[in-house]
Amino acid sequence: MKSILLGAFALFAASSMAGAAPVRAGAATSNITPDMGVVLDGTIMKIGPAKHVHDELHARCLVLDDGTTRIAFAVCDVTMMAPEIVAEAKALLKKSLDLPPENILISATHTHSAPRALNIGFGPANEAYHHFLARRIAEGIQRAAFLLAPAKIGWGGVNKPEFVFNRRWFVKTDSKRANPFGRIGERVQFGPSLADAEKPSGPVDPELFVLSVQHADGRPLCVLANYGLHYIGGVPTGHVSADYFGVFADCIQEKLHADRQDPPFVGIMSNGTSGDVNGVNLKDPNKRKAGYARMHEVADDLASAAVEVIGRIEHRSDVELGAKLTQLPLHVRKPGADQVAWAQSLLGTEEAKKTNPSRPIIYARETMGLSEYPDTLPITLQALRIGDLTIASAPCEVFAVTGLAIKKESMAKATFTIELANGYGGYLPTPEQHEYGGYETWPARSSFLEVEAEPKIRATLVELIREVNGK
Ligand SMILES: [Zn+2]
Repeated sequence: MKSILLGAFALFAASSMAGAAPVRAGAATSNITPDMGVVLDGTIMKIGPAKHVHDELHARCLVLDDGTTRIAFAVCDVTMMAPEIVAEAKALLKKSLDLPPENILISATHTHSAPRALNIGFGPANEAYHHFLARRIAEGIQRAAFLLAPAKIGWGGVNKPEFVFNRRWFVKTDSKRANPFGRIGERVQFGPSLADAEKPSGPVDPELFVLSVQHADGRPLCVLANYGLHYIGGVPTGHVSADYFGVFADCIQEKLHADRQDPPFVGIMSNGTSGDVNGVNLKDPNKRKAGYARMHEVADDLASAAVEVIGRIEHRSDVELGAKLTQLPLHVRKPGADQVAWAQSLLGTEEAKKTNPSRPIIYARETMGLSEYPDTLPITLQALRIGDLTIASAPCEVFAVTGLAIKKESMAKATFTIELANGYGGYLPTPEQHEYGGYETWPARSSFLEVEAEPKIRATLVELIREVNGK
């Protein structure tokens, strides 16, 4: 009798350790398309109002709950997002769902045909759109939470190297041109001419990672995919589009035969570590195309690969969840007095009055913008655990070499990374890449963290992964 009781107790203890209850999941989308006329600040050089909506923008949301812990993802079709918007959305969710901020990951896909949602333009920030965005993200997660139902989760990856290329190239000695600050001799350029290009300055992360969520009866509920590709782009000025991220969501739904389900299936493509990776094969001019047709080609192929992964992985309902978040204070690369004087002298010239001024003028403005930054900024880092899988996120445009290192150093059985999450920390070159120079390293409000930021962020994320796994 005693041994039977002990046996029953042991069974109970084992099941409670594996998660208090079978995991539940809910997914929903929330439309975040801006009004016509809202400023699309796609790149630092190109601004303009929204003139046409090619396809709607969404916050694509997934909520998971193991009976003890609830975590939420919102992957949003914007170029990047101000920390204030993330904070506003998380405050709304604390109120409506009592969901702690550390359990919520809100990221930007980095589509460039969408609002930048950041106060670094030189016109007035679109406060109305920013508040709308925060509300719509919170509502998307609320809707997903409302739909929580018994679920099964599986994950796996496959290498898809054919669509990712490191865009920072070592250039030949005689082709080193001056950077916007007048410095000659930088070893690396972003997208140089074919004649100048020697070899890429860093790797790519070719992994397409797939987190598959199914209803208890096996119907697809949500796919959260992850790939390190900046975006495809090549759309006309003024177009609003979710880029290939949106096309993937559509293709994966079709290929899983999940159209018109009730509740609707939700496909999501998140951005991995693509700060120095785009879809342009510099060495093959025939493969340098962009535009809507190219988005379809890439998204369709990745969706087929994702379906294959889903077909071979095991889905299980005894999945334990966890969340850890920390704020890492980092120094800002603020300009010195001499740099401010250089910027002021340029901004007093006739060139500065032009609508499309030269690059030095643009960086003179950036220098003045940066001079008003605080000396240090808190950078939000996060690790979310789904069973044996851990997802690490940072608010920066992270280079592939960093993503690969995190995957390697992670003690979790499987790891993937989401960039541009929970705020905005600009480009994150490694100290070595800072040394090489090039666009992503030039001090601007799109690249402002200290030179040592990358090793600090990487080490903190590896530690967070350890902590969220209870080790
Ligand atoms: Zn970018």
